[in-house]
Amino acid sequence: MQLYKNQDLRVYNSLSGKKEVLKPINEGHIGMYVCGPTVYSNVHLGNCRTFMSFDMIFRYFRHLGFKVRYVRNITDAGHLENDSDDGEDKISKKAKLEQIEPMEVVQRYTVDFHETLQKFNFLPPSIEPTATGHIIEQIEIIKEILEKGYAYEVNGSVYFDVLKFNETNEYGKLSGRKLEDMVANTRELTAQDEKRNPQDFALWKKAEPQHIMRWPSPWGDGFPGWHLECTAMSTKYLGETFDIHGGGMDLKFPHHECEIAQAEASRGKSPVKYWLHANMLTLNGKKMSKSTGNNIYPSEIFSGDNDILSKAYAPSVVRFFMMQAHYTSILDLSDDALLASEKGYNRLMDGINGIEKISIGATSDFDIRAWQQKCYEAMNDDFNTPILIANLFEAIKHINLIKEGKESITQEDKALLQKTMSNFVHDILGLENQSNTKDDSNALNGVMDLLIELRNEARANKDFATSDKIRDELTALGIQLKDGKDGTTFSVN
Ligand code: AMP
Ligand code: ZN
Repeated sequence: MQLYKNQDLRVYNSLSGKKEVLKPINEGHIGMYVCGPTVYSNVHLGNCRTFMSFDMIFRYFRHLGFKVRYVRNITDAGHLENDSDDGEDKISKKAKLEQIEPMEVVQRYTVDFHETLQKFNFLPPSIEPTATGHIIEQIEIIKEILEKGYAYEVNGSVYFDVLKFNETNEYGKLSGRKLEDMVANTRELTAQDEKRNPQDFALWKKAEPQHIMRWPSPWGDGFPGWHLECTAMSTKYLGETFDIHGGGMDLKFPHHECEIAQAEASRGKSPVKYWLHANMLTLNGKKMSKSTGNNIYPSEIFSGDNDILSKAYAPSVVRFFMMQAHYTSILDLSDDALLASEKGYNRLMDGINGIEKISIGATSDFDIRAWQQKCYEAMNDDFNTPILIANLFEAIKHINLIKEGKESITQEDKALLQKTMSNFVHDILGLENQSNTKDDSNALNGVMDLLIELRNEARANKDFATSDKIRDELTALGIQLKDGKDGTTFSVN
């Protein structure tokens, strides 16, 4: 269904600083690129917040009937320490520290990223390209920028000439910075610096002999600059100009500013129609960050194993906590906030689970269509999930009044209420009904403990026919038993 034809969706475009009506380049289609993780460590909850904001946005586009191509990359090379043009590659550094291959680092943390996102019920993107899989495309863009005269080569490295670019274009337009101010506020270059100006940024860096992640290029062995991969992968899969580019606020400058410069310098076109930026998750009022250690990992939240937490929280509770804030607002994580979200989440799920049982009347006291449109209007106003959630609770209030016999609802309205609730809660906010899954998994754990005990007794009695039967039948059901020194555990395939 092409719901988008009846809904006027407005998004906050960081480039114009305004909310704009979303008009995709090709009607009915949306191309969206979101900068993915640099896979050199486990994702923290702050990273998850940004990706969750775009998962919700992706879900809403799909619900409206758009055909969406959602590209979210994996940064597996080129991202140097401190987001600068100097220092070690974050992945190489970790590989050296652990004495493993860089690609082992990449594999380990890509798997962690996927497993974590799956727990939070993310939809997979349409394409998940890697920087190392697109070295050739990146080299081609550098050649184009060199040809157009916006870059220069020095000693096997290639730098983007920001001052030259700014003569004909506007460097700083996304982040609201003026190049003159940047120039006035930066240090002088030293004799060792290869750059003509401190604002210039690397497109290609020469690899010193000890640098393990290296590729041949027309300028010698080296590796691409961090900003280039996103230009290469977004244009390859979405075209030279595409609809939406997203990422965390902290990527606006320099990363996204440099992406605009690279695309405009090579193709002469502004690459993106709408720039969307998600705001930061903070802890103790400070940005969660890998480098400062001010962060909390999803696994700690799910196990409750962190001093700031009084208990463990289910992934859906955390997702509900995130969705209660607008994606452009700062959100601070605390145990109190999670406790409150858990209560809210349970109230929402109880309300939804109760719809089925409410009895039908001849009339409705609650205008379901008007309420449904209010839910759409909240989402159409730059994905205002907190207002949407307030509307959902408005419906829960009516459901409770119907249960108490103080209001009534017709059969048709009840079906519409149930469908609309499920669309917004499950499909758009991505909230699973984990109160049910928790009960199921408690029951499974109980049954498995019993079976493992029976098998242990059979083995102790040398009744191997029974112990093998238990193991084999469980295997056939997709449940693997694993005997370890601390006893037997199980996993479900
Ligand atoms: P990185 O792996 O460091 O490249 O970051 C991956 C994504 O997480 C980027 O879009 C960042 O903007 C985002 N990010 C990093 N820290 C936070 C935070 N504290 N809150 C929300 N998003 C964040
Ligand atoms: Zn990027």
